Amino acid sequence: MADSPMADSPMVDSPMVDRTRDRPIRVLCWSERTEPERVYPQGINGAVAQALEGAGGFETRTARLADGGQGLTEELLGWADVLTWFGHGRHRMVEDANVERIVRHIRERGMGYIPLHSSHHAKPFKAVLDHSGDLGGWREDGRPSIVYVVQPDHPIAQGLDRLFVVPQEEMYCEPFRIRPPNELVFISSFAHGEVFRSGGCWQAGRGRVFYFQPGHETYPVYFQPEIKTILVNAARWAAGSKGK
Ligand code: ZN
Repeated sequence: MADSPMADSPMVDSPMVDRTRDRPIRVLCWSERTEPERVYPQGINGAVAQALEGAGGFETRTARLADGGQGLTEELLGWADVLTWFGHGRHRMVEDANVERIVRHIRERGMGYIPLHSSHHAKPFKAVLDHSGDLGGWREDGRPSIVYVVQPDHPIAQGLDRLFVVPQEEMYCEPFRIRPPNELVFISSFAHGEVFRSGGCWQAGRGRVFYFQPGHETYPVYFQPEIKTILVNAARWAAGSKGK
């Protein structure tokens, strides 16, 4: 791919993510925090952190848009092996300087990045892969979605059956305007026959990116066992962890 316009940014002082670390994987769980508290009392970032802590082998911090520095300071990003991200209606409020910082940490230091659901339009996801992330369509109907594992030997699919159902979900459909993923792990299907590349992996410079579609914020998707398994697997994969 062509280098992103941000490739000229100065190198980060922090050392590259240590792929052979003998410590927990550090995950910064970020959200804009517009998700309803009746579904996610601790936010979607809190639910992600809870899933990781429950699995063990992780150290988590949560951050939100309203925090100082939008929760995306050099110190916080420099701490993180992986950044998970939930945004929906406030993508444009994320400052460009923070987006550049995230892209730098992914591309140059090897920080993993996991944008969730409506974060297909998150500025860092668009910037780091230089695509629009536009959807072919969507429908917030709360009908079931089937998540189908298309690469069962992928680390992110470990512990899953061939398919599982998310009982209530928002439909997203193709064509998904993304750079073609290096690896496609999941495809989802929806009530009217729509399909969507719901779990894709990219290498971006030194960093790994995993986009995951399930998780409309009015349904408790991130509390579902299969989804938690995927979050855990994805965080390990994005950290470049081997066998942890
Ligand atoms: Zn949604």
